[in-house]
Amino acid sequence: MSIEVLFYTQLASILGYIAAAFVLYRLLVAQKDAVIELLKERNQSLVDRITVLETQSPDALVDALARRVEVARAEITELSHDSVKHKNEIREKEQDLAELQGKLGELTSLLKDTDLVCPTCHAPLMRRESHTVYGEINGREVEADILFTEYACGYATSDDRAEPLSKCGAES
Ligand SMILES: [Zn+2]
Repeated sequence: MSIEVLFYTQLASILGYIAAAFVLYRLLVAQKDAVIELLKERNQSLVDRITVLETQSPDALVDALARRVEVARAEITELSHDSVKHKNEIREKEQDLAELQGKLGELTSLLKDTDLVCPTCHAPLMRRESHTVYGEINGREVEADILFTEYACGYATSDDRAEPLSKCGAES
């Protein structure tokens, strides 16, 4: 091997080393730039968050929350007042209803007692007539008052008969 060849080989290896070092250097620089860019972005997002937090100071947050609680409390108070008012109204109505039912019961029993309604369906009385019949029993003249009663439902009786003349319409 001549000295010339040795020289060129040495030169080539030195140049290769320099080239490799340069590529590595470029790579490192590029990486550093990327890291700096990333850190810049992160920094910006932190600054943004700080700005947001500054506008929402603890006082502002507490105030907003307190206002919301106040509104809710007012609503609940209103609702409870309403329900008390409604409960009272309902109780009054229930009392009225109970009174009415009592009166209705009294009236119904009164009507039943006076035969003014059908004993089965409580339909009102339509007709009540009495007529006198004459007859002869064992040579003696007898007379009797017969009461004929007819209700709106069709129920009709005559007090000289055990069976009704016609049945109550609600019965069939
Ligand atoms: Zn009837």
